[in-house]
This record gives sequence, C-alpha cells and structure tokens, in this order.
Amino acid sequence: MTWDFSTDDAYQEQLDWVQRFVRDEVEPLDLVLGHPCNVRDPRRNALVRPLQGQVRARKLWACHLGPELGGQGYGQVKLALLNELLGRSQYGPTVFGCQAPDSGNAEILAHYGTPEQKRRWLQPLLDNEIVSCFAMTEPQGGADPKVFTTRAVRDGDDWVISGQKWFASHARFAEFLIVMAVTDPDASPYKTMSMFIVPTSTPGLEIIRDSGFPTEKVATHGYLNFDGVRVPADHMLGGRGDAFVVAQVRLGGGRIHHAMRTIGEARRALDMMCERVISRRTQGERLADKQMVQEKLADSWIELEQFRLLVLRTAWLIDKHKDYKKVRKDIAAVKSAMPKVLHDIASRALLLHGSLGISEEMPFAHLVMQSFHVGLADGPVEVHKATLAKQMLRDYQPSETLFPAYHLPTRREQAIEKFRAALENIDHAI
Ligand SMILES: Cc1cc2nc3c(=O)[nH]c(=O)nc-3n(C[C@H](O)[C@H](O)[C@H](O)COP(=O)(O)OP(=O)(O)OC[C@H]3O[C@@H](n4cnc5c(N)ncnc54)[C@H](O)[C@@H]3O)c2cc1C
Repeated sequence: MTWDFSTDDAYQEQLDWVQRFVRDEVEPLDLVLGHPCNVRDPRRNALVRPLQGQVRARKLWACHLGPELGGQGYGQVKLALLNELLGRSQYGPTVFGCQAPDSGNAEILAHYGTPEQKRRWLQPLLDNEIVSCFAMTEPQGGADPKVFTTRAVRDGDDWVISGQKWFASHARFAEFLIVMAVTDPDASPYKTMSMFIVPTSTPGLEIIRDSGFPTEKVATHGYLNFDGVRVPADHMLGGRGDAFVVAQVRLGGGRIHHAMRTIGEARRALDMMCERVISRRTQGERLADKQMVQEKLADSWIELEQFRLLVLRTAWLIDKHKDYKKVRKDIAAVKSAMPKVLHDIASRALLLHGSLGISEEMPFAHLVMQSFHVGLADGPVEVHKATLAKQMLRDYQPSETLFPAYHLPTRREQAIEKFRAALENIDHAI
C-alpha cells in the first residue's frame, strides 16, 4: 500500500509558517495596496519586497521552478499544499513568486527560450522586477483558437504583427507580451501559429482600453491593437508553427495551480461562514443552531473536501507521470469542477452574512465573480467537460457485445446460463 495522506514534519513546519505569514503579513496588503502586478508602484514595492525577502530566506520562493531557476523543484503535491494557503490573499502568489501569468510565462521561457531571450526576459521575471502578459484570446473568440486572425508576416530580418488581442491580463503593467499569431495560415490547423515575445514599448502596439469585471479593484485585461508591430526574428519563442505545443506547457501547470489557489479562496469563505453562524443570533438562537444553516455548512465542507482530494490526486498523478498529456482527463475534471465549488460556497457565505455579505465590505461578491473567472480563463468549462468525456470514452474498455447486451433480460439469460449447472445441482439436492 502506498496511499498516504500525511505531510512530512519538516514540510508541515514550513506550511505552518506560511499560514501564519499569509494571515498576519500578506492578507493585510489586499486592503491597502492596488494591483499586485503593478511593479511600477513604489508603495507596493516598499511593502512587498521585504516580504519577498523573507520568503526567499525560508527557501519558499518560486517553488514551482526547478533549482536551476532559483526554485525548489517541489512536486505538485507539495505545491498544492502551499498554493491552497496562498490563495487566501490576492497578494499571496506575488509575495511567493508564483503569480499568473508570470509563472507560466517563465516556464515556457525556461523551456523554449534562447540563451539571449532568457538573459533579457527570464531572470528579471523570476526576480519579479518586471511582469509579463500572455496574449492569446481575440475579440472574435477565445475558446476556439482556429478563429484567431492576428497575423505575423516575415519582412527581412523582422516579423510584422497586425491584429487585435482581447482580455490580455496585466498588459498595462507588463514589460513584454507573449503573443500567439498566425504565421502559416495554410498549414495543418495546429501548426498555423507561432509565439512571439513583444516588448510593450514596441511602436504600433496600443492598449485600446483595459477591461475588468465589476468586482475587480483595477481593470487590467487589455484590449490590444497591433498595427504593424515589428519585432526581430529572434523574438520568436519556440519553433515556427509551434505556438500550440508551447502553450500547452504553460496551460497544464497553470490550470492545476489555479485550482490549488481556488481551494484557498473557498476555504476562506467557509471559515468566515463558520465565524458568522456561531456569532449571529436570530429568533433566540445562533444561526449555527438552525438545520438549514447546518446543511449549508455541511454541503460546503463536503464539496470543498471532494474538490481538494481531486486536486491532490491530480497533483499526485502529475508527479508520478511527469507528463501533463497523461493527466489531461484529470486536469480537465479539476478545471470543470472548480467554478461550481467556489460559486456555491461563496454564495452560501454571502447569504449567511445577509446584507453585510452582499456589500463590498465582504469578499463574497468578488468570490462569486471569481467563480466565473475560473470558469472562463484558460478555456471555458464546457470545452474541458468535452475533453473529459472524450478522454473517458477513449480509456473505456467496451464489453465484447455492446448494447443491448446489458439489457436486463439478456443479462438475466446470461446469468442463468453461467450458473445453470450449480443451480441444477442444488435443485436436485433439495
Ligand atoms: C479574468 C479573465 C482573465 C483572462 N486572461 C486572459 C489572458 O491573460 N490572456 C488571454 O489570452 N486570455 C485571457 N482570458 C480569456 C479566456 O481565455 C477566454 O475568456 C476563454 O478562452 C473563452 O473565450 P471567449 O471569452 O472569447 O468566449 P467564447 O469563445 O466566445 O465562448 C463563450 C461561451 O460559449 C460557450 N462555449 C464556447 N465553446 C464551447 C464549446 N466547444 N462547447 C460548448 N460551449 C462552448 C461557453 O459557455 C463559453 O463561455 C481571460 C478571461 C478571463 C475571464
């Protein structure tokens, strides 16, 4: 038996430190600072940099990366236990050097970047001196990359990019974008696009506006226009036509890390739910004493623990196989389950806090919106459910005789045949 749900003592000690540190030092940042990715904000840097120093000193900086990049090379199970604590605070990932989309962008730079690209972009990104943006979605569609039209055309030693991108998070704060553009429109569908590193200071690149969703403090999802944006040929990231392959490297890890942090968000809502129901009295008793309230607590706990187990099991499978392709089904399941768990727990917490719960003084309305965020970003739930179903059927071993062989009369006949001799012997004996 190798199943084991325990955490080794040394790592548990680290997690205990993280839990205290996030509660006492990091969560308060959410209340006084603007966006965590605004590295040009001196107030943000004055408060965040010393905390990042403490995290480095504890050897907990950028734990998703291997030691060669300054991380710890922790496997996904350890990351899951860490990230679920960081997810409680908007600033958690930034203070620990694992904020999206920089974490995924760093992974693909490390994997596919040339030595010069790594020197220029990767190290400052890993040190959080700069931040980055991943620009894939276009105004006419995100879920289906085959509708993307942003073109990159070769012109001498340069590539010239024209088109539009939509919902490119943190573009305004970014030093560079990683852009997917069509380079080979006549190639087979998944070989049409290439990836480019585009410095945000490049002429011809314009942020038309920043979009956001209603509960976000700062709108940071850039609507971008590329009007003949010229980058040298050596700014291509990965091979020509390889954008989909490169993107998968960042999306596999990105999706499961998002799920780990979502556990933290949901747990925070559940903790606040508990606090509320034992402290609020109505009709002469605590909210906690009412059965319909107890049901809300119980459902929330069960849903969160079920989801957490799914995430941890998937993390364990990634560690085991070390190949995201082998856990596509499991990651799709995590991605599909995540929005509903966060939505339902945050909604119950909101309701149990009454008018206070719906107000901007509590995080619940934002968490409900976050559930839609996690249901859309990195691909909508419907697409992941379709992937899950297809993978299930691919793995399914059909019986030799397909339907209607499992009709009750057929199965009964088969069972009678199977036990005929034994039953006849018994019948003779009695
Ligand atoms: C908070 C947030 C941050 C984001 N950050 C980034 C970023 O940094 N970079 C980036 O490139 N993109 C980003 N995105 C965009 C995200 O990747 C897209 O929203 C997503 O891929 C869906 O694309 P779309 O919004 O164009 O919706 P559409 O593709 O138009 O889909 C709309 C809806 O149609 C339904 N649908 C779509 N396809 C199917 C299908 N096959 N089967 C059944 N139903 C379907 C789903 O309900 C889906 O929500 C972000 C999105 C959000 C919400």
